[in-house]
Amino acid sequence: MSFVKHPPCESPLQSASTDEELMQRTLKIVRSRNVTALASGPPEVIAKWKEAGGERILPATPFDPKAGKPTVAELRQMVTSKQVVAFAEVGQQYDGIPANDPRMEPYYALAEELDVPVGIHMGPGPPGATYFFAPDYRMRFSSLLLLEDVLARHPKLRLWAMHAGWPLGDDAIGALYAHPQLYVDIGIIDYAFPRKEFYGYLQRLIDAGFENRIMFGSDEMVWPDALSAAIDSIQNAPSLTPAQKRDILYNNAARFLRLKQ
Ligand SMILES: [Zn+2]
Repeated sequence: MSFVKHPPCESPLQSASTDEELMQRTLKIVRSRNVTALASGPPEVIAKWKEAGGERILPATPFDPKAGKPTVAELRQMVTSKQVVAFAEVGQQYDGIPANDPRMEPYYALAEELDVPVGIHMGPGPPGATYFFAPDYRMRFSSLLLLEDVLARHPKLRLWAMHAGWPLGDDAIGALYAHPQLYVDIGIIDYAFPRKEFYGYLQRLIDAGFENRIMFGSDEMVWPDALSAAIDSIQNAPSLTPAQKRDILYNNAARFLRLKQ
């Protein structure tokens, strides 16, 4: 896997070598670029980030329909005690579980009842994920049309599709059109993909009329500088107006997450 150490890329990102370094380098960027970050991870990790980052960190933890942990009762407790403000990033696609699988149902019902936003992975994993870490990952589960049954069953559910269902633009546009409560984010595709492809996909969603439902995301994982790179890709986007940049970088998420504006 020599490409991991010597990637064919003009500006490779340097990962952090410890959890502490990852947090400190990220928080530095969060402060310097005026970010309020919905940060996702296991409850004990995210509690640490919240303690270090204060108001700038919105803690989130995923539900996991395969493992069944945390349980629905535990998730309920985390919400009522304000330990988490969202369920994200739900990684069902990596486990070969489509978004409309019955195993997702109890969690959707809980999120709807508690009025908690849910962010689920719908789109790309690392290239070849199926062959080196997620044997059940299937790209076809990126279709946002899989959300139709879910949204129809839970009309008050505040659901967003992470990675905007890339590359299935037709399905994403269809779902956004038919279900006005659905939002998407542009994590990973905004910094890791060829510029032309990312801007083209983003523009397609905007041209179809959905500029008010596209939220910025970084999905920095272990690369703190990905956050900066992702912000730059929106701020430097050649075809976006200042108002569209503001909507994507702030207004849309502030509305969806009901932050004080
Ligand atoms: Zn993801």
